[in-house]
Amino acid sequence: MLAHDKTIRRRLHIKACATEIVEGFVKGDLLVGSRHRVQCWLESVPPIPRRACGGYTSSIVALAAMLRISQPELNTLRQYAEQTYPEECCGVLLGRTDSETNHVLAVVPVENVAAAATRGTRYQIAPEELIRVQRTAREQELEIVGFYHSHPEHAAQWSQSDWDEAHWTGCSYVITSVRKCSDDEKIVRAQSGETRSFRLSNIGAAKQFAEEEIVHDAV
Ligand SMILES: [Zn+2]
Repeated sequence: MLAHDKTIRRRLHIKACATEIVEGFVKGDLLVGSRHRVQCWLESVPPIPRRACGGYTSSIVALAAMLRISQPELNTLRQYAEQTYPEECCGVLLGRTDSETNHVLAVVPVENVAAAATRGTRYQIAPEELIRVQRTAREQELEIVGFYHSHPEHAAQWSQSDWDEAHWTGCSYVITSVRKCSDDEKIVRAQSGETRSFRLSNIGAAKQFAEEEIVHDAV
């Protein structure tokens, strides 16, 4: 999975769900936290021999990515997924970036302008709409920290088209799974399921989606 590259040997890939990797990496040292904390830890230990790293090799990449969002904003995002079912919803997340944390302060829904026949499995944001949202963000002294969309009747896992069309490095790509929950043919009801977030890093050959923890801020 990871390249055997000495140049990135001392970089560590850390997020909440990677804790077990780290625990296996160096028993007793639990590495969850900011990049600063990770770097401090790295300075305190000698280079780790490859043989000690199990199947992960020593080329683990440092990233303690996290998405912070209030519960109401998260609920709003999930409700959009239900409202647009069986089509995908989409929108932009505005906020601020602090170290490795993307703080969401506003959820901005936008129209899915993908071809009508494909909206159940694709989303597309019109470029002019994105410019408008970006201008609004600037006026509020916020920045675009991520995007969200839904996966009707599919898991909250990024798809090939999500991968191909993701270009905003450092942004969080949030996906909510939404499934039909009513058999009533007149009124289609859907319910959001799992919501996950993936941080985009790098472009080109090193492009990567890494799952990050979603932290629900208390209001
Ligand atoms: Zn998708």
